Amino acid sequence: MSTMHEANPAVSTSVSPAVSIVIPVYNEEAGLAQLFARLYPALDALGETYEIIFINDGSRDRSAAILREQFQARPDVTRVILFNGNFGQHMAILAGFEHARGEIMITLDADLQNPPEEIGKLVAKAREGYDYVGTIRMQRQDSAFRRYASKAMNALREKITRIKMTDQGCMLRAYGRNIVDAINSCHEVYTFVPALGYTFARRPVEIEVAHEERAAGESKYSLYSLIRLNFDLMTGFSIVPLQWFSFAGICIAALSFLFTAFLALRRLFIGSEAEGVFTLFGIAFFLIGMTLFGIGLLGEYVGRIYQQVRARPRYLVQAVLQGGAAHGEER
Ligand code: UDP
Ligand code: MG
Repeated sequence: MSTMHEANPAVSTSVSPAVSIVIPVYNEEAGLAQLFARLYPALDALGETYEIIFINDGSRDRSAAILREQFQARPDVTRVILFNGNFGQHMAILAGFEHARGEIMITLDADLQNPPEEIGKLVAKAREGYDYVGTIRMQRQDSAFRRYASKAMNALREKITRIKMTDQGCMLRAYGRNIVDAINSCHEVYTFVPALGYTFARRPVEIEVAHEERAAGESKYSLYSLIRLNFDLMTGFSIVPLQWFSFAGICIAALSFLFTAFLALRRLFIGSEAEGVFTLFGIAFFLIGMTLFGIGLLGEYVGRIYQQVRARPRYLVQAVLQGGAAHGEER
């Protein structure tokens, strides 16, 4: 395998590279220099042709300027997509996929939590014929709360969606061209890329990768956005929650019927009952809670349908830096 970007900088932008690296960047100014310092040597060492696509997800710090500089430093293998707002990590990855030309696409985070030195392992696995290489983080370096909550959500998600991912949160993954083409043909407003990719995989596999602490800056996910992300995952890939809910409705209706029958008989043989007001409150609150939950759940699906039918652009690209020229573009 030749490393053509070294011999002729112009070539690799016109010929498809073997590997495309897709990296979403949101307010990562503090860590980008370290990322470049490890990522490029790690890829050069692979002996594969490659391109790196950075997507600036509307950063409000110097990230965009730093990416521009990096593009000028390595225009042979670097491409930069600049969003004109913050559309989220998964939209950024989707934009990267639409521009990626490689045979194997690798996603990773910009904060160095996914060591770039692990990319070789994923490429090797993909070369064995697996079109989806998932990963499991060994000794995950996140807060205990994140680790336990993520384990619990993982288990629930597996029940609901039947998507088998041991570690759904790890973004360091490899996707074959067939999967990325399939993802590109989807126009989902809210999505979760690893799950979407998995649903199209012919031969998925999982490997273990190292995980590090965030190199600089802090997590871009608040508790609220993590909850939202999990909702997207559950309701975006399955209608099982709705089915469970109708099933619960049937069970509660059946139990209430039995209970009413019991009360009628009790009234006939023992007489009317007066106590138990608070028991009634308890039961009523439980049922009201269930009902509100059901409406909310329904709302999740209706909201998705609404977003989807409005068909607004999922993200707006302000500029694409590649091959020495900037192209304006909208999608
Ligand atoms: N990110 C993004 N847009 C966002 C939030 C995050 O592009 O709205 C990027 C971020 O720059 C990083 C990756 O997504 O490269 C993962 O984010 P982060 O490390 O904050 O998430 P965590 O590791 O805490 O799950
Ligand atoms: Mg991170």
